Amino acid sequence: MSTFKDLGLSEHILETLSANGFEKPTPIQAQAIPLVLKGNDLIGLAQTGTGKTAAFGLPMIEKLVAESRRPDPRNIRALVLAPTRELVNQIAANLKLFVKKSPIKVGVVVGGVSINKQTEQLARGVDILVATPGRLLDLVARKAVTLTQGRYLVLDEADQMLDLGFIHDLRKISKLVPKNRQTLLFSATMPKQIAELAGEYLTNPVKVEVTPPGKAADKVEQYVHFVPGKDLKTQILKKSLTDNPDGLSLIFSRTKHGAEKLMKHLDHVGFKAASIHGNKSQGQRERALKAFRDGEIRVLVATDVAARGIDIPGVTHVYNYDLPEVPDAYVHRIGRTARAGRDGIAIAFCAPDEIRLLRDIEKLMGINIAVASGEAPADQARPAKGRGGRGNN
Ligand code: ADP
Ligand code: MG
Repeated sequence: MSTFKDLGLSEHILETLSANGFEKPTPIQAQAIPLVLKGNDLIGLAQTGTGKTAAFGLPMIEKLVAESRRPDPRNIRALVLAPTRELVNQIAANLKLFVKKSPIKVGVVVGGVSINKQTEQLARGVDILVATPGRLLDLVARKAVTLTQGRYLVLDEADQMLDLGFIHDLRKISKLVPKNRQTLLFSATMPKQIAELAGEYLTNPVKVEVTPPGKAADKVEQYVHFVPGKDLKTQILKKSLTDNPDGLSLIFSRTKHGAEKLMKHLDHVGFKAASIHGNKSQGQRERALKAFRDGEIRVLVATDVAARGIDIPGVTHVYNYDLPEVPDAYVHRIGRTARAGRDGIAIAFCAPDEIRLLRDIEKLMGINIAVASGEAPADQARPAKGRGGRGNN
């Protein structure tokens, strides 16, 4: 397996990497870094947790440092777009680590916070701007920033940006960054609209692909408890949380209301819990995420939208308190654990009215999820094929 040094990165970056425990490149990093250094446009197909930030961030920083220019006021040298505030903040936090020993400045632009501070930050110009599309376009409209010096454009989690309705914004922004740029597009899946976008805005892109969809969860041990209703879900959940006092547990609930109620109950009976969902302000969400990341809070109850793409490396357990309506969401959810090669456990609760959802998930993933307790009503049992455990059977 190659090392970061073999990939052509220079000393100042290598030092920062080893200081941060990055010993060897992940597969997407090993493939993408040399291509980006060479100047290729790139389509990277990779699931969350595969190390995409460093895959584009490291070679881009390397090149920006080598070019040793400064951006003009209210201009940028590189633009990274991501779908949510949480993801933008996360990417920026990673990039800020990587640029520590360099003069490169990283700026952040997200909605839901003061626009004036962002205008001030942009006034001096930034080398790498990480942004959500909507707020960026607001700032462009106010002439707080132009993108005319942009030489790098990264579209991260492109399929999520599509899901969240950003396709028009992406097209607009792509036109504002000069044509003689390098464009990198990352996505877990490649729906038609993303392929079209790539065809339009990338030049002779090289495609790299790691772990085909559905495989991201291979390292996660998965279990399901069949239960008659909510009471037993909560009871088993509390026992499991008690049994894993050192774990970091992420619990998914279908509704905002359900998430809040469950969090309050867990908090009431003595677990250090917080929640993130659509009824929480940006500040509340960020505080909850930080407390969870720092381990002050051991239990985070979330809805799908609030949890999209969040990267908390220490998550040990993902609980599907409610099974999601769409099977893909299950794969996204359990992908919050076992990130970057760590192990993880995913525990699902399945009430009688959720059995159809469970079977859809098993079909999508091509596995039988091991039964930890209870059993499916006889008329809805699986066709007798044996009950598998962890892998693909
Ligand atoms: P993605 O964008 O594909 O979801 P990230 O870039 O956010 O993935 O990386 C996921 C996690 O793995 C982060 O916590 C990151 O710091 C860590 N990570 C990434 N690459 C490496 C590496 N080569 N060695 C160790 N940890 C890594
Ligand atoms: Mg990412």
